[in-house]
Amino acid sequence: MILVALLALLLGWVVGHVLLFLLLAMLGYLVWHLYNLSRLQRWLRRAELSSLPVSSGIWGSAFDGIYRLREGSLRRRKRLNRLLKRFYKLAAALPDATVMLGEYDTIEWYNKPAQKLLGLQPSTDVGQHIGNLLRHPVFRAYLDKGGGDEPIEIPSPEDETVILSVHLVSYGKNRRLLTARDITRLHQLEQMRRGFVADVSHELRTPLTVISGYLESMTDSAEELPRDWQRSVVLMEQQTQRMQHIVTDLLFLARMENGGQPGGGEVIDVPTLLAVIQEDAIMLSGDNEQRISLDADPALLIKGEYEELRSLFSNLIFNAVQYTPAGGEIRICWRRSEQGARFEVKDSGQGIAAHHIPRLTERFYRIDVGRSREKGGTGLGLAIVKHVMNRYQGYLEIGSEVGKGSLFSCYFPAEVLTSRLLPRNPDCADVT
Ligand code: ADP
Repeated sequence: MILVALLALLLGWVVGHVLLFLLLAMLGYLVWHLYNLSRLQRWLRRAELSSLPVSSGIWGSAFDGIYRLREGSLRRRKRLNRLLKRFYKLAAALPDATVMLGEYDTIEWYNKPAQKLLGLQPSTDVGQHIGNLLRHPVFRAYLDKGGGDEPIEIPSPEDETVILSVHLVSYGKNRRLLTARDITRLHQLEQMRRGFVADVSHELRTPLTVISGYLESMTDSAEELPRDWQRSVVLMEQQTQRMQHIVTDLLFLARMENGGQPGGGEVIDVPTLLAVIQEDAIMLSGDNEQRISLDADPALLIKGEYEELRSLFSNLIFNAVQYTPAGGEIRICWRRSEQGARFEVKDSGQGIAAHHIPRLTERFYRIDVGRSREKGGTGLGLAIVKHVMNRYQGYLEIGSEVGKGSLFSCYFPAEVLTSRLLPRNPDCADVT
């Protein structure tokens, strides 16, 4: 620009029109800039990376820089496009139904199996709220609480006999991924297993009752039996009783597995029930004389089934009595908690090693099989506790330290709780 200005000055001075020449030179310079700017604009408008406009000076290096930037960004865009296409192909090839949900749980994309399993229609369902298409109440409740770690099981809206395991997970901002898998076969096998256990238990009940009856009358008149037989008959009666307890617990578990949610149920007076179980626990403790205390909210009740709750509370309390040495302490607590209510049994017993804790609620899992049998345990108590808690939409937490004791906590959601109106204690104003 300085060179152009100097040249114009020199020419203007020679001709005698300095200002005019200077003005013309500046105008020419401006036109050159505008020309290059319009070339740049035309070049940028082209989607493809065509050859760069040739220029020199400041525009030459600007063109070079912009070309390199564009080249880099186009390369990145192509790579992303390739990745996206590969992802869509992969998601489309998944054998499970996969649905991408956008903000407000509207359907953004889904694969072929989603059409078959969830009955989604390509022409109408994109952009629809997923809750309008999958209307099963269990799914609606799951969606409302934002999914969860555990999948749910619902029948397919296309075919009631097909059972789906549906899982909803969050990703990115306000986005969720829904997957559904056909588990009909697994479900049938599980039902067969339950049916088999229930049938066998049922069939065993009558012969066991008969055997137990005869053995009972034999032990009543044990002195009439030959000496060698007396101990055998007592042992036979003990083992028959154990079998009867196992059969009763298995039938109880089967009944819970087959039944739906406890629903409204009856109102269970938990504080009174706990006081009765506390009395039984004191009897069970006998000469061991453990200190068994109860701290229960007198107004806090549950809507549910008496037998289930009695079994839950007594299993945990009687376990504490059985696994706490003589003179130990057992504290039972029934109180409101942040999300609902908490039932706790804390003992100063032998404790449980950490690696056993995750397996304790499995059927027949016992740390010391011999000791459990000796105390008349079936190995099904904690499996029953877990099942009852599942039915009440609650959960069981176990904390323990070897040698220090254990804490079993059951958390009940607010929906299954109810309150009793207690007669108000007369306060100062009421006393006349
Ligand atoms: P069981 O009939 O054998 O008591 P459970 O299912 O009730 O069966 O308990 C499973 C196992 O958990 C028991 O065998 C025992 O080893 C352990 N357990 C349960 N409660 C306690 C406790 N309060 N303290 C120590 N161990 C316990």
